[in-house]
Amino acid sequence: MTIVNRIFETVMTQGSGKKPSLDNLLAQFDKELENFQTLVELAEESKPRTPFDSKKLKFSDMYMSKLTLKQILSVLPTMFPLQLQMRKSANLYDGKFRPTKSEAEPSFFDELETLAHKAGATAVKYVKVPNNAIFKHKGIPYQYAVVITVEMDKENMSTAPSFTAFKEVANGYKNLAVIGNKMAKFMRKNGFAAYPGTALGGLTDYTHLAELAGLGAIGYHGLLITPNEGARLRINTIYTNITNLPIKTENEHLWVRDFCAMCKKCIRSCPVKAIYDQPKPRGDGGMQCIDHDSCRDYFNQNFGCAVCLASCPFSQSGYDAVKSRFKGNSKAPQFRIPVIVPIPVESKVEEEVLS
Ligand code: SF4
Ligand code: SF4
Repeated sequence: MTIVNRIFETVMTQGSGKKPSLDNLLAQFDKELENFQTLVELAEESKPRTPFDSKKLKFSDMYMSKLTLKQILSVLPTMFPLQLQMRKSANLYDGKFRPTKSEAEPSFFDELETLAHKAGATAVKYVKVPNNAIFKHKGIPYQYAVVITVEMDKENMSTAPSFTAFKEVANGYKNLAVIGNKMAKFMRKNGFAAYPGTALGGLTDYTHLAELAGLGAIGYHGLLITPNEGARLRINTIYTNITNLPIKTENEHLWVRDFCAMCKKCIRSCPVKAIYDQPKPRGDGGMQCIDHDSCRDYFNQNFGCAVCLASCPFSQSGYDAVKSRFKGNSKAPQFRIPVIVPIPVESKVEEEVLS
């Protein structure tokens, strides 16, 4: 490791001398939940948040330790605001805000969505968070949520795994955090409680919530696929006390998994064969698509990988093009997730986070 990388490591760990850990950073944000007397509780079958850190890898094995000075200087203007904006989101969980209203006029939602789109959100939808979408050991201030997505650039993501794709992903997270904070400020100004997620990590399974909200469908790679972005997107949520959100219960995108059953390109392109041949229905109502332990080490050594995202036809050709080809095929298969006894959720606790 060069002197530049050692300095970068010191900055990333704030001089603690420990291995840089995204899980530990997220755990600091989660601690703000202690400011609440009551929280919406998780369900018994809720799963733990998937850890980012590889237990086996040393910092010197990870791509973060191998960035050149030029790459570090190029990514810092994204990473610093990202950290600051996530801290800003976490600071809103101080337990002090008292809402004055819990029902909104239709015009409020129009204004909120206009603000979100102007700030860079591609889509905005709403959901009542099921208790089993709340991660183990977490809770949320209110059970309703606004779910937003941002798009990542097609050309940049097509280079995955690469520094360019990694920077594009970091930029997506930064944009999500900025938009979430702006929306929360607007909602609070109008008298409603609003708690943005921290873009990365979070207290709930964002992909599951986004599918429930009707934004898209989860593909075999475990990522959300939407009409506007294919799989080139990131998701964030803002928890709120607004009880009359315009929630849609229909999801018109579930045909996507019929296509997946025929395609399986992400399964073939995954460098470490971490994607299951068929998603496994989980005890919490979601689907287990990936062997995370197999994915994580490669991910941490190769700029966050994202090969599955980049190789997906929905990311490359776009949702409409895939749909028109697929729907015109009379031999196209029907929705094929086998009806079997759901597998139990991974019970592993994030030991690294708790240590
Ligand atoms: S690559 Fe194919 S199988 Fe994988 S998620 Fe995309 S459409 Fe589905
Ligand atoms: S991120 Fe990479 S390693 Fe992980 S599942 Fe996707 S293709 Fe495989």
